[in-house]
Amino acid sequence: STTTAPAALDASKLVIHKTSTPKEKLPNEKLVFGRSFTDHMLTIPWNRTAGWGTPVIKPYAPLTLDPSAVVFHYAFELFEGLKAYRDPKGQIRMFRPDKNMIRMNKSADRICLPTFENEELITLIGELLKVDSSFIPSERGYSLYIRPTMIGTTPGLGVHTPDDALLYVICSPVGPYYSTGFKAVRLEATDYAVRAWPGGVGDKKLGANYAPSVKPQLEAAKRGYQQNLWLFGPEKHVTEVGTMNFFIAFKDSNGVKELVTAPLDGMILEGVTRDSILALCREKLDKKEWKVNERYCSISEIEERAKKGEVVEAFGSGTAAVVSPVKEIGYNSEHISIPILPGEEAGALTKQIAEWIAQRQYGIVESDWSRIV
Ligand code: PMP
Repeated sequence: STTTAPAALDASKLVIHKTSTPKEKLPNEKLVFGRSFTDHMLTIPWNRTAGWGTPVIKPYAPLTLDPSAVVFHYAFELFEGLKAYRDPKGQIRMFRPDKNMIRMNKSADRICLPTFENEELITLIGELLKVDSSFIPSERGYSLYIRPTMIGTTPGLGVHTPDDALLYVICSPVGPYYSTGFKAVRLEATDYAVRAWPGGVGDKKLGANYAPSVKPQLEAAKRGYQQNLWLFGPEKHVTEVGTMNFFIAFKDSNGVKELVTAPLDGMILEGVTRDSILALCREKLDKKEWKVNERYCSISEIEERAKKGEVVEAFGSGTAAVVSPVKEIGYNSEHISIPILPGEEAGALTKQIAEWIAQRQYGIVESDWSRIV
């Protein structure tokens, strides 16, 4: 008997069914992150024997799944988040989609869902963006948030390897995270709950990492904090903030400044924004004035150096907000003040980084991070 190898993901097989009932578009100022979606979605079924099936772009609609499907019971789910921007010429640009594809494949591999050829999915997402291009706002600060998702769909209880999966992509037009300019946030240093641990999956974008993070956030909110600053281990190293990577800048007694973020030790999500910030700062900051380090940093280092006036600024980084300035960290009964510019809601480096990245997202500065669709 002859067996055929499972099919690879193939963008050239794409089939497009356009909606006959286009949605009413919301005015830009009414856009709320992740609440409204474009007219279409991309779906690609997978089966262990057949491999990747026909990619289809079709009207955005509910999914129908067996209630026993593995996704509902054992969290066979992973996702990505990236954005498309409209440049001044009206062209559509995706920001570093190759990075998201690499991360998505790592997530898929970790939970026995199928992997795929990065460039094929980038091409297919590009086709979805063309079909829904009228939803991509053109104003600076606005963009289209893209949410690739993969779920295990095989029915049957009992923890088992999924033999069927669905990869789908939905898109949501979004406004600036801070509609009235930056708003610095207060963080609660959290050690009673742990986001990720050695040998765990904190470095993967699995849905299962996110549900347990909501309760600690509500607890922090009760005490007046917007986000958790996740600590880890007996040393109480700072790891991430909410669902963002964390950066802090120090200045030593000689005036030399250091930008610090946690190293990728398996507990830290490999943020695309984090990577972009490290690359830009290493390229652009004056090396006599600045050091840029991926290293461990404990909450007590922050506490002690804040007392000595050695903390310069701090921020979170992620696709949604790009950078999110921090003005205070609550730790036990201490309130650690983090400087922001007088009369402003961010530090000077935070503002500079936001501008460097926006210039590349909107194609104001050409870069190979920006992929024209
Ligand atoms: N950490 C966590 C836990 C996240 O969920 C995200 C959002 N993907 C980030 C960091 C930031 O990653 P990125 O810059 O790729 O959006």
